[in-house]
Amino acid sequence: MEKKKMPLSIKIFIGLIIGVILGLLCVADGPLDNTFFLNTDITSFKLLQEYIKPIGDIFLNLLKFVVVPIVLLSIICGIMSLSDIKKVWSIGIKTILFYLFTTFIALIIGTIIAMLFKSKFVILDVTGAEYTAKETKNFIQVVADMFPTNIVAPLLNASMLQVIVIALFIGFAIIIAGDKAKAFANVIESANAVFIEIMDMIIHFSPVGIVCLIAPVIAENGPKILGSLALVIGIAYLGYIIHMLVTYSTLVTVFTDVSPVKFFKGIAPAMVMAFSSASSVGTLPINIDCTVKMGAKKDIVSFVLPLGATINMDGTAIYQAVCTIFIASCYGINLTLPQIITVIVTATIASIGTAGVPGAGVVMLAMVLQAVGLPVDGIALVLGVDRIFDMGRTVVNITGDSACALCVSSIETKKK
Ligand code: ASP
Repeated sequence: MEKKKMPLSIKIFIGLIIGVILGLLCVADGPLDNTFFLNTDITSFKLLQEYIKPIGDIFLNLLKFVVVPIVLLSIICGIMSLSDIKKVWSIGIKTILFYLFTTFIALIIGTIIAMLFKSKFVILDVTGAEYTAKETKNFIQVVADMFPTNIVAPLLNASMLQVIVIALFIGFAIIIAGDKAKAFANVIESANAVFIEIMDMIIHFSPVGIVCLIAPVIAENGPKILGSLALVIGIAYLGYIIHMLVTYSTLVTVFTDVSPVKFFKGIAPAMVMAFSSASSVGTLPINIDCTVKMGAKKDIVSFVLPLGATINMDGTAIYQAVCTIFIASCYGINLTLPQIITVIVTATIASIGTAGVPGAGVVMLAMVLQAVGLPVDGIALVLGVDRIFDMGRTVVNITGDSACALCVSSIETKKK
């Protein structure tokens, strides 16, 4: 009798559970520390950091290695198969409108729940809090920087917006050149097929990769959840969950034939990956895989998702709203309505400018605080637990990208 193979999504989920348990067992001074090993120099916490974490890093490195060629080649192939420049623009505009709309709703949700629970926050002492804001770019600079000055640097530095611009130029030029570009188009198509195979190989490694990514993070951050920031973290997660369950479920119900249950089941492996890696860009290959499997058109997915992994950060927006209101409370400041509107506007821009890598959202939080005249030093109050916020916000970020890709794909298909 042939044995039925366990689906990869289940394996990934089991990987997450094993990783979390392993991490909890190995927290410093936890159940496995010192007592487990005869040689007390080697604590299980150290063992995890020294031997398990590098395996997780290998997995994440591999995903990052494949992401630039995948984005570049699949966008070009997507444009070639749409074979119409006007169609690409129309998809692009719909995508951007979707992204802006969901980010706006995310901020409304984040602001309302943070205001509702504000009086329950444990107020932290701000004396001694220090944070040096890194220089952030304004919106116009972000737009100007999308256009590369050479073709190699964006690929080397994985500057996603620039990679997208290069792919758009090449794709459009292939369409315009017509027959003359045939040989080049064939090379691109064949290279795309090769990199998709490489991506598949790496994704098959994901259950093990996820155990090794998440266990050290839980061992390091687990106990911090119990601290005085528990409520703020809880509020951010409540915002994340409400936004996913209400906004995304509504959008996929209205625009697609995929039910919310099927949507969350389909996107689950990518959510686990996002939670473990805290990187939208690192999750991109798995997200593309999940979204295509749910029925979205490949040429649209390959354009909408890389764009989303760079500019659509609903989870980051919720986090920025919650933390701004929390930091204001710690400084004894009550935000006025115009200030709250400023938070919503600047957090939208800040989330667009946030890169899809771990910890990027906290850098952009400085911009939001400055816009309403709050001390940037307040960031120090939440910095220690940033990874915990980050895991959740990345899950929301990539789920929003996938929901949008499904909606745009379905709108385009029905139009025909
Ligand atoms: N880690 C997030 C992401 O990759 C960005 C952030 O830090 O907010 O989507």
